[in-house]
Amino acid sequence: MSTHLERLKERLARITDLDAVRSLLGWDQQVTMPPGSNAARSHHLATVTALKHALFVADETGDLLEGAADEVAGLSYDSDDASLVRVARREYEKLRRVPESLMAERARVHALSYEAWVRARDASDFALFRPHLERVIDLTIEYAEALGYEERRYDALLDRYEPEMKTTQVAAVLAELKAGQVPLVQAIAERGRLVDNGFLHQEYPDQAQWEFSVQVLKDMGFDFTYGRQDRAVHPFTTSFSPQDVRLTTRIRENDLTWGLFSSIHEGGHALYDQGVRVELGRTPLFDGASYGVHESQSRLWENIVGRSRHFCAHYFPRLRKVFRKPLAGVDVETFYRAVNKVEPSFIRTEADEVTYNLHIFLRFELEQELVERRLSVADLPEAWNAKMKESLGITPPDDTRGVLQDVHWAEGLLGYFPSYTLGNLLAVQFYNQALKDMPDLTGQIAQGQLLGLRGWLRANIHAHGKKFTPAELVQRVTGGGMSAAP
Ligand code: ZN
Repeated sequence: MSTHLERLKERLARITDLDAVRSLLGWDQQVTMPPGSNAARSHHLATVTALKHALFVADETGDLLEGAADEVAGLSYDSDDASLVRVARREYEKLRRVPESLMAERARVHALSYEAWVRARDASDFALFRPHLERVIDLTIEYAEALGYEERRYDALLDRYEPEMKTTQVAAVLAELKAGQVPLVQAIAERGRLVDNGFLHQEYPDQAQWEFSVQVLKDMGFDFTYGRQDRAVHPFTTSFSPQDVRLTTRIRENDLTWGLFSSIHEGGHALYDQGVRVELGRTPLFDGASYGVHESQSRLWENIVGRSRHFCAHYFPRLRKVFRKPLAGVDVETFYRAVNKVEPSFIRTEADEVTYNLHIFLRFELEQELVERRLSVADLPEAWNAKMKESLGITPPDDTRGVLQDVHWAEGLLGYFPSYTLGNLLAVQFYNQALKDMPDLTGQIAQGQLLGLRGWLRANIHAHGKKFTPAELVQRVTGGGMSAAP
């Protein structure tokens, strides 16, 4: 007779397989699927998702979890088995509280709302989206109430992306950051446009850009034996196991850095997934500690490493060899300044490293007000524009460049935005620790030797997968809590 733990592992392995299949369908949808196949694909996705959900929330899973919890009671907190039972049980108890009818209704409403959002955005007409968003907010509130929370309704939503984090904690960290960053952005804006990055927008042939990005990924230690890079309209990374990790990028011939930094960013996500210990691959622990921790890896590579003087010192001379004509007469300092240009802008996804967080503060504040019924959907565009003016000093000329720009709310992803900024903050905290542990790190980067950093990240962060909550992981790695100060 096998133990509860053994039977639980077998069951969770099958559930993880279904998840991998779902991810593979999603990857294919965005990378290789013919344009007319979307309707058929939505059925495949819905069926696999429902199968996985049913298998996971079944009574049998609960019985196995309970039995296994007794069997692992004597093991250390960070052992594989104790962590597996703890993490799976937490997720099981959350998802069990959400009625299946609500899950189905949310999926249906989000699909309609997404279509309405696309139309509204194209027409820059918020009124087309408004009734759909109202329905999304109603269902989001119902969902939060089902999941449960102690203090704030928003906590229930935030917890889906940042396990065990509370709204008040995130608000405190973001307030600290905002107090420093809003005046900084205003001071930069007042100085005027000092940085000319026009040379980045000459002609840079597609194939040469692609090959360059592949070389940088290899230098970062991304293993093409267990992964691929492809093209997608909106770059993303997905994984089916630590041994099958797919990243995507997008190249524009009139922009040298768009594709390069997309590849480095997604490469950061991809290294995380390749770095999870293979033993955790067919378990729910094959994942990042949280969305914010995952984003910390992409931001660390993209912004802290990729936009550093050290990185430019090694890679700019190589770029100049490949792209002789557009980079003729450009020196490394000019390049470094150009890729770090700061300028308030309307679109979050195109924002620079400094102004980016201001876009997040605004969304974080507005979505709390929406789910706590302090702001109506009808008043949302006006509230958006007022906050843009207050924090970035600019007013969107239309809703396409304002409240309609992001897909998240259309798909019911409320509680997600803070993860982007937490990722920025954690990236700095982790990098500072790496610098302490490896005093020669910047020297290595300036030589194009990036494997030392990958090794440090793998040992301290990647290998653990989802074993720890973000707060536990930050404590383990840095010896302290999450902070905006660094
Ligand atoms: Zn990312």
